[in-house]
Order: sequence, then structure tokens, then C-alpha cells
Amino acid sequence: MEKPKILYELEVAHGSIYGKEEEQALLEVLRNRAPSCGPKVQEFEEAFAEYCGCDHALAVTSATTGLTLAGLAAGVTRGDEVITTPISWIATAAAFSALGAELKFCDVDARTMNLDPKKLEGLIGPKTKAIVPVHLYGQCCAMDRIMEIAEKHNLVVIDDCAHAPGAEYNGKKTGSLAHMSVFSFHQQKNMGTLGEGGMLTTSNRELRDKALSYRSLCARIYGESYKYLSIDEDKYPMGKDYWRVQFDAIGYNFRMTDAQAAVGIEQLKKLDRHNQRRIDLAARLDEKLGAVKGITLPYIDPKGKHVFHVYVILLQDGFPLTKSEFMWELYTKKGIKAWSHYMLIHLTAPYRVEGHKEGECPVAEQAFDHYVSLPVHPRLTEEAIDYMAASIVELGNSAQ
Ligand SMILES: *Cc1c(COP(=O)(O)O)cnc(C)c1O
Repeated sequence: MEKPKILYELEVAHGSIYGKEEEQALLEVLRNRAPSCGPKVQEFEEAFAEYCGCDHALAVTSATTGLTLAGLAAGVTRGDEVITTPISWIATAAAFSALGAELKFCDVDARTMNLDPKKLEGLIGPKTKAIVPVHLYGQCCAMDRIMEIAEKHNLVVIDDCAHAPGAEYNGKKTGSLAHMSVFSFHQQKNMGTLGEGGMLTTSNRELRDKALSYRSLCARIYGESYKYLSIDEDKYPMGKDYWRVQFDAIGYNFRMTDAQAAVGIEQLKKLDRHNQRRIDLAARLDEKLGAVKGITLPYIDPKGKHVFHVYVILLQDGFPLTKSEFMWELYTKKGIKAWSHYMLIHLTAPYRVEGHKEGECPVAEQAFDHYVSLPVHPRLTEEAIDYMAASIVELGNSAQ
């Protein structure tokens, strides 16, 4: 089979698409002096909150800083414990470790790879402060059970929605499923804001006010938390003391820029369309890979809407190649760069130093040797998907 022209898109394996609308929006910001956190950020936040069906959204520099901000708002500090999943990008855990918390890893459901609520209660103790589920690969966790358990034990739930903008659970969108939710607009995610970016959402006014304060060094200007920069500021309620700035605590600078937000507004308008493209491409892969011996296709929870950040297959023992062999052959012989989401967090060097080890999460550890992520981003054509599927079928038949 001949290499299609779009092979590049199978090697740069994730992300969204920018078009004329983003170009136009960016130029407009540039002509308006491209401020830090200005009117475009406010507009983006309002549109994002409305899309998710929640009350407040705060734009930040990344999901990593968004998780840190959520932790600060929840009061996570040294001596607290935070429970999360072992299968995620390390940022999910690192953001809370950096605040001094001790991480506990809850094993996953073997079908979805999401945090398994059945294993959750055994990890909750007197020091537990927060639960951080991750809607892995674009599919929501069992949020009804997780919220029930959290409420029973009076814990804060911060869901990591980095893979899942626009995903749903029981008819409700991510961003409205937990006490606080955090999104990523990094270049590899379902929507992008110029390489980096993130969003924190909540419907709790108190948490929102704390997060807003920490986002800008806990500074108060004109008596209010620093919110949006207005270049033509004409509000001087403090009269001749208008220049006095107060600081309530030690904070951070996690503010998004207007240039990023202007692009985010256009990306949000296209999100449902881009997600639908992912869902369609995933269905096409299902069809073509369904008969391959030794491959398990992604499980879809009927309670949710899966937005396929990636398409993850499991290579079972009947498959002729190991995971590493398969990924290497697919890359070197077919030019398709599959990936493995993720390295198990509890077995990474910094968490081993903290005493984590093999045996803590047996389901995740067993799955690690089997999961392989395939690209289904919206820049891919049907031709590219068919080429990828045919390549996988060929490798599946190779040693038989
Ligand atoms: C990408 C990602 C993050 C971190 O996002 P950044 O915006 O890069 O900081 C956190 N959690 C998950 C699950 C991710 O995929």
C-alpha cells in the first residue's frame, strides 16, 4: 500500500486544527495591543462556563497550573492526602505533590482504564482532602459514584478534564460534574490556545473567589482581586490612594493572555464539530479493527459521551507482537507514531522515592503492557485512517 500524503499527520499524532477564524481573532488582539488578561479572557471564560453548564470559569496558563490553583482553592497543603489514578500524565499528581500533599493511587477499571470507584473508599483516611479523577482518553469516569463517595466523606473532587472538553456523563458536560474541573488547551489536546493554556471551572462561588485570588498573587487592586486588565481603567473608588495594592497571601501568576483567549473562543465554537470528527474516525477504526485477532477495541460506557482524545486499543496475548514490537514496527515500517498513554505515575522515579511500588495498582500494572494509543485527531482523513487500519491488520497477520 502506498504512503498517503497525510502521513505527516499520523506522525504528529494529536491536537486540533486552526483556521481563518483563529487567524482573524489573533490579528484583532494584536491590533488591540495584545494585553495579558483582558476582555478576550473574560469573553472566553464566560463562553466556556456557559458551554459546560457551570457558573464560573477561570482561564489559566495550563492544566498543570489549573490543577495547582484548584488545589490551592481547596486548601490542599502539607500533611494532606490526595487520591488520584496511576494512569494519567504525571501533572495530575505532580500539581498536588508540589503543594506538599501525599499522593495515593487508586487502581483502575479494566475496561475504561478510569479510576475505579469500588477501590476508592479503602484509600480514604483522616488526612484525605481531595479526589482527582481523570476522564481518560476522552471518556468520563463513573462520576455518580465518585461524587457520592466524596460527599459521604466530605472531600473535594477536582476532575482532570484535559482529555475531555465536550465529553458528557449522564447528559451533563465535563466542567459541571465535580466541585472543580480543570482543562488543558496544550497543542496536543482536543482544543488549543497557541500551544499552552488551561481552564478551571466551578459552580462554587467561594472556590472561584479563592482561585481568582491565587491566580494573580493574591493581590487586591482598588480593593478587588485582580481580575481582568482594562487598559483604560477609570475605576478609582479609593480616590488618591488608587495606587495602593494589598496582598492577602502568597500567590502565583497563572493568567492566560488575550491572544490565547481569542483563539480559544474560536476553538470552542468548533469543539463539537471537531469532537464529532474524532467520534466518526473512532467508529471507522472500530469497524476495520474489529476482526483482528488479539486486539480489544475501546470500551464505551453507555452513560457517557466519549470524545476520543485518543483511540486506545489493548494488544492481548493472541496478538503476534508485543506492545513495543508493535509500536516500533508501526512507526518504522508504516510511519505511524502510536503512543502509550501513560507511564504509570506511581512507578515513576519521583514517586518511587516517596515509597510507591509495584503491586499497588495491579489492574493498571497489568494493562500497561497492553495499551497502545492511536491518533484520531480531526486533521486526519478517511484515507489516513484506512491506511493506519490496513497497516495494523497487516502487522496482526505478520507472524501467523
Ligand atoms: C495534558 C494533560 C495535563 C497537563 O496539561 P498541561 O496543559 O500540559 O499542563 C494534565 N492531565 C492530563 C490527563 C493531561 O493529558
